[in-house]
Amino acid sequence: MHPFHWVPADGKRHASRDKRPWGSAYPSGMRVNTLCRQEVVAEATAQAWLWGTCLDCNGEAHKLAETARQKSAGVR
Ligand SMILES: [Zn+2]
Repeated sequence: MHPFHWVPADGKRHASRDKRPWGSAYPSGMRVNTLCRQEVVAEATAQAWLWGTCLDCNGEAHKLAETARQKSAGVR
């Protein structure tokens, strides 16, 4: 499991470490703190998932995923 989740908001797909209230996506209208250090309002629509990825969030997400991978592999 990755320690973050993708969330479409403000015209881009951001990533966040915030806890999701239920299900597998942030509900529309929820305020979410993103990995690029913004507070955005989630838009859980089908079209929103087609938006471009936020480059700042993408970079942070890769770092988090790599850290999680190393932890699970026992690498320090
Ligand atoms: Zn972002």
